Amino acid sequence: MSNLDRVAVPAACGGRGFVVAEPVRELLSPRPVRLGETTEVRRLLPNLGRRMVGAWCFVDHYGPDDIADEPGMQVPPHPHTGLQTVSWLHEGEVLHRDSTGSLQTIRPRELGLMTSGRAISHSEESPRPHARLLHGAQLWVALPDGHRHTEPHFEHHADLPVVTAPGLRATLLLGTVDGATSPGATYTPIVGADLALARGADVTLPLERDFEYAVLSMSGEAYVDGVPVLPGSMLYLGCGRTGLPLRADGGADLMLLGGEPFEEELVMWWNFIGRSQAEIEQARADWTTGSRFGEVKGYDGAPLRAPDLPPTPLKPRGRVR
Ligand code: MN
Repeated sequence: MSNLDRVAVPAACGGRGFVVAEPVRELLSPRPVRLGETTEVRRLLPNLGRRMVGAWCFVDHYGPDDIADEPGMQVPPHPHTGLQTVSWLHEGEVLHRDSTGSLQTIRPRELGLMTSGRAISHSEESPRPHARLLHGAQLWVALPDGHRHTEPHFEHHADLPVVTAPGLRATLLLGTVDGATSPGATYTPIVGADLALARGADVTLPLERDFEYAVLSMSGEAYVDGVPVLPGSMLYLGCGRTGLPLRADGGADLMLLGGEPFEEELVMWWNFIGRSQAEIEQARADWTTGSRFGEVKGYDGAPLRAPDLPPTPLKPRGRVR
């Protein structure tokens, strides 16, 4: 998915000084954002007051939407740099194409993981025909300086490791939970897990004390460390925890996002992550002139045009406003 804001606002984040070093319970409200003509998503990161959780720097939750008589997701070719995209579905399917030649249908609880490295472009669309419901999350992971210029590549993992406990089924997207590790490539200490809570679940999930965490609710009503979290909301949990109490009287689906606090300062603008205004300007110029980002073959439509840069300079700053 793309950041399709018609007016792209610069976001600066990163820097260890802004991390909450102790457990907190900070409920983040979603901001509705329209993606093109057809889809509305709820944006959890970046959020007013909090821009990152570990290296996770962008979180959209969408659906469940009834797209039986609609085109569904239609995100034309667009560029990325300095990040990984994570596609995660609970309902429906997304057809991914990218400039490395990938053509992959991503289905529920399969991992679509695209590492942009220095430059990639991709498109995402609901295939034709498609399932009636579309429900998922689109997330970005910031690449650290030592890896952000790496070669672009795409991974599809249909068979991910699962950890179970009474009432809990955790599927690993990235990183490790309770000894199970995802095959997805990671470049910072990070974790992403899908947490399916059965009716009546009352369980404690083991956590890393040095990681900061947040939990996104996908569906159902869950209590995360005692706080009710409704679908489309995210609870930021801070650091310093070794376990997370989870409860769901009627069953619920959550996503655990966490990682070592990301120390570098970033400049995020549109679909690019860089370290300076000059890098962002160069990326925009390269996309506009058709260099560096390759070509997405087979998408029925024109590529996205980059918005204008804002008149005020982009400046890297801390993780929170
Ligand atoms: Mn994208």
